[in-house]
Amino acid sequence: MEDKSLKQEALEYHNMEKPGKIEVRYTKPFNSQKDLSLAYTPGVAEVCMQIKENPQDAYKYTTKSNLVAVVTNGTAVLGLGNIGALAGKPVMEGKGNLFKKFADIDVFDIELNEKNPDKIVEIVVALEPTFGGINLEDIKAPECFYIEDELKKKMNIPVFHDDQHGTAVVSGAALLNALEISQKNIEDIKVVISGAGAAAIACAKFYVSLGVKKENIIMVDSKGVIYEGRTEGMNPYKELFATNLSVRTLKEAIEGADVFFGLSQPNLLTKEMVKSMNDHPIIFAMANPMPEITYEDAKEANKNAIVGTGRSDYPNQINNVLIFPFMFRGALDTMATTINEEMKIAAAKALASLAKMDVPEGVLKAYGLSNLKFGPDYIIPKPFDPRALIYVSSAVAQAAIDSKVARIENFDILEYKKTLEL
Ligand code: NAP
Ligand code: MG
Repeated sequence: MEDKSLKQEALEYHNMEKPGKIEVRYTKPFNSQKDLSLAYTPGVAEVCMQIKENPQDAYKYTTKSNLVAVVTNGTAVLGLGNIGALAGKPVMEGKGNLFKKFADIDVFDIELNEKNPDKIVEIVVALEPTFGGINLEDIKAPECFYIEDELKKKMNIPVFHDDQHGTAVVSGAALLNALEISQKNIEDIKVVISGAGAAAIACAKFYVSLGVKKENIIMVDSKGVIYEGRTEGMNPYKELFATNLSVRTLKEAIEGADVFFGLSQPNLLTKEMVKSMNDHPIIFAMANPMPEITYEDAKEANKNAIVGTGRSDYPNQINNVLIFPFMFRGALDTMATTINEEMKIAAAKALASLAKMDVPEGVLKAYGLSNLKFGPDYIIPKPFDPRALIYVSSAVAQAAIDSKVARIENFDILEYKKTLEL
């Protein structure tokens, strides 16, 4: 067989049978005159009036209970940048596939030809009746911070910008386990974050929630270290992490650091820089598809390093798909009004603890491995581990209940786990 280029294969894939990657189907019998009178008029009117009377019944009688909007304006699509809403649609449809595959959640992808943050807020707020949750996607920083903050204030359903918080929670889980293995205390670690965009700012905030001291974080962007009094290329979100130290470059900042998080650009971290870190360094080089330092180079610089990247062809793949489907599963199933810090922390801890359990045969097979044991090269479950759905979603649901943002009564975590296993 003749080798096809990736481009040709991808184009054919998206065009085979029907164009695109998702479709709408009905879920009830719809064959007879009787069905018609139930699904549509006159029967449907009874359901409308029921919901008019009790709006929460929309979760019982409509797809709201399992429908998430993946909303973008196409300003920061994958690594492609500002390619616009229409060109971003294949990515959003793909995100819909991931929601469905990993957590059986239905998605409408919504691509908006709109850059004005206030207008985006206005449009998304008006979508609330349709959806059980809003996944913001590939909206560029710093506008994404404002848009999400405003939507969270104005909406009564979960709003979650995955590029920010999915990344924060999955890398936070990996951090907890890496610290355990390297026997470092979260309150003591010195952390350098390369990048100050959508992912980096949210990650930094979340690591503080997990116990990292804010004053122990140094953030570096394309202009160098973010320090108090800097004026070039600043915004209020970067300002939160401005250091009072006199270091100005990544090279200076990384000396004596325990952890490096890369959420920036390829090849920024050199072996020499790794050698200047404290021993047993933790290096999560997450720039995609090429990391800030390769797995091999980081290990060569320090064999005790614990290294994670976004790549599936190396150990410790840090991938948001381990979080966002299950974050929404737990939130939807409890009819949560929001996704709060408690739910994010619970998700990170659940994912971290899953990495310490024996790995089932099926997962080993999927990755062609004979063994996988908690340790420097296995700090985070594999993306195709089916247990992640059960452990993470149930932890999120329990946290929603405990933090009083759930709208269901009578939640029993063991019963809930059983329903997820089906
Ligand atoms: P973003 O909002 O565009 O942020 C990129 C940041 O990188 C900006 O703050 C930029 O600085 C900074 N940067 C550029 N050149 C730099 C340099 N030479 N040194 C230091 N910082 C530099 O993008 P994002 O959504 O946060 O994503 C950032 C990267 O992380 C991407 O490669 C993305 O693929 C990756 N990522 C990985 C995962 C994962 O593995 N799970 C998840 C999310 C994101 P300025 O602010 O000065 O422009
Ligand atoms: Mg994204």
